[in-house]
Amino acid sequence: MRIGIIGAGQLGRMLALAGYPLALQFRFLDSSADSPGAQVAPIVTGAFDDATSLKRLAAEVDLVTYEFENVPVAALQEIAATRPCFPPVDALRVSQDRLLEKELFGRLGIPTPPYRAVDSRQDLDAAVAELGLPSVLKTRRLGYDGRGQHYLRRRGDIDAAWEALGGVPLILEGFVRFEQEISIVGARSTRRETRAYPIVANTHRDGILRVTRAPQRNARLQRDAERHLGRVLDHFGYAGVLTLEFFVERGRLMANEMAPRVHNSGHWTIEGAATSQFENHLRAILGLPLGDTRATGHSAMVNFIGTMPARERLLALPGVHYHDYGKSPRPGRKLGHCTLVAPTAATRDALLRRVLRLVPR
Ligand code: AMP
Repeated sequence: MRIGIIGAGQLGRMLALAGYPLALQFRFLDSSADSPGAQVAPIVTGAFDDATSLKRLAAEVDLVTYEFENVPVAALQEIAATRPCFPPVDALRVSQDRLLEKELFGRLGIPTPPYRAVDSRQDLDAAVAELGLPSVLKTRRLGYDGRGQHYLRRRGDIDAAWEALGGVPLILEGFVRFEQEISIVGARSTRRETRAYPIVANTHRDGILRVTRAPQRNARLQRDAERHLGRVLDHFGYAGVLTLEFFVERGRLMANEMAPRVHNSGHWTIEGAATSQFENHLRAILGLPLGDTRATGHSAMVNFIGTMPARERLLALPGVHYHDYGKSPRPGRKLGHCTLVAPTAATRDALLRRVLRLVPR
């Protein structure tokens, strides 16, 4: 069985690495031959919407998945017409647009921060008048890792935000004074088996995920997150791994966004859960029984952003696992991560403090 992965970033690479013990083979499609995935499996080099490259990929594989959210929907539709393709194209379409995403959450009874669509400067003024300040102006499409967002703290910020982002469809969101950010990663198989991982706590800086702590033991939030996840999975007739990110405000969940793919906040599952999110994604799209999603200890995942830390010093700490994606360094770029697993939350937090002293910030 050969699986085509659209996108050859670190997520694709970790999918392939999880698939080899299952006797799977892989082909990537990416515009850059020098991608993390290309170091572990053959790659078709070409734009995601280049018909010839898509055909070449389809000809070489039995089934297609994607690891990157900005794959053009039309390209995925084209490939899905010739090969089974999971997760569903419609989940990709909705996840590409923050407005469609929030409208769907609303229809499914999943709470979100208040929001307004903004297509003109008048819309922006009206939205600010309704939602108040502070608020966050975001591009509806193509934003990630904090890009395409502006915080509006005072009225004087409005002009600069419009100057920077105006001209494309936008969304204004009320600023959430959250106690915590959490996410849930879950899998549903083509045989409709569903498993969810424990919810995890995420810390972001400048819109980029820095640290995930897992598991986050809170029975009520876990139950609510699983209920929301189940509704989204049902809606799309989903197969594969899906991630939902939430703010926790006054003890309640508010959905921020969904990702129809394996997720950075699930990297801890490689060493910290009975089955990794990557293996479960592959099991899910192949209709294999899903693996146990339980946490085997208390984990933390730390992203390496822009600069790699000294490998030897990190590996000298007990329970630390190192992942280098093989990318060239660039400010703000996710180059790798480490995961540490400890027997208790207290020992995990103590070890995390030592790890963070070794990771450039
Ligand atoms: P996003 O790209 O929407 O995931 O935003 C990146 C990060 O910016 C989030 O993880 C939050 O830390 C912060 N953020 C985004 N939207 C809001 C909001 N409406 N209120 C408060 N913080 C936000």
